Amino acid sequence: MASTSFKAANAARFKPGGSFTGGNSRVELPAIVNGNYILDSPARFLYCSSTMKNEFPKTLQQAIIYFSDAENCTNFLSQLRWPEGVECPNCDGREVSYLSTRCLWKCKACKKQFSVKVGSIMEDSPIGLDKWLAAIWLIANAKNGISSMEIHRSLGVTQKSAWFLLHRIRKAMQNGSFVKLSGHVEVDETYIGGKARNMHISKRKHLGSRDTGKIAVMGLLERHGKVRTMVIEGTKRGHLHSQVAKHVESGSNVYTDALRSYNELGQEFIHGVINHAERYVDGLIHTNGIENFWSLLKRSIKGTYVSVEPFHLFRYLDEQAFRFNTRKGTDADRFVKAVAVLTGKRLTYEELIGKKTETAH
Ligand SMILES: [Zn+2]
Repeated sequence: MASTSFKAANAARFKPGGSFTGGNSRVELPAIVNGNYILDSPARFLYCSSTMKNEFPKTLQQAIIYFSDAENCTNFLSQLRWPEGVECPNCDGREVSYLSTRCLWKCKACKKQFSVKVGSIMEDSPIGLDKWLAAIWLIANAKNGISSMEIHRSLGVTQKSAWFLLHRIRKAMQNGSFVKLSGHVEVDETYIGGKARNMHISKRKHLGSRDTGKIAVMGLLERHGKVRTMVIEGTKRGHLHSQVAKHVESGSNVYTDALRSYNELGQEFIHGVINHAERYVDGLIHTNGIENFWSLLKRSIKGTYVSVEPFHLFRYLDEQAFRFNTRKGTDADRFVKAVAVLTGKRLTYEELIGKKTETAH
């Protein structure tokens, strides 16, 4: 292996379509499709443990030790990002040399140097890869989320940096899938928050229910599949129908409660209604799955984040949906899936605080 080029060695490490074994452990890696949206197309890569100094970490403690080594961080991130060999983000050149002392590559064609952070959510961040990867491990696996205060205390970055870092990870976790849900889909809406008195009047204006100051949120759950969530302007027919039409394949079975806004869903879907005043389950007709998701979400918002600004609520929804949608995997699986979606996304501080409009990615 020592005589092969970096590119060849890299290509040998991953083989699309295989499974991935690291020593005695087996970690399923998601496929990278167009650099994005890998969570919808899980494939496996063959991964040879011999290319890693140690076995791939399984626990937070092992992850912190493993990623305290800068070379381990760079190897892991580059193998995940460029399974076919390192590619220059500037000119797509494949002929690159690795400057191991600085963990940088230099492109032979355009002469530019680049790190594995370039073109990812971590670009321009002065925070080291060791801390980024530890933070990702924490947020991907903490059932009830993790606050910026906890990240500040455990990783030794300022709370402001921790807050920005966590929001960038949430941005990466955003589901960008265009594949519609199908089969049996539970649809429900709920309200989050509700401390209207703490809010600026301009924010209160945008809320779905002005009296309580709560924000309307909608969830769609494909049974035995994935959940999608979104902040909605209100719970009138137009608000709800448009989301169901956008996210669910027509002709699917859709289950809702007896809210009248859902009344006409039967025109496009097989609509099952459960009237909670009478009962909660009627054969296949129930919304227990999505209700369970709401309780997890509310527990994490109340317990961990204490309060969430309405402007940022959708990011917490993305975070909770990510963990829910990867619930069947191990901690290492969830971590790898979160890291794999870092590329191709950006979020500047100005965008985060609303001074600039976020660009669509
Ligand atoms: Zn180049």
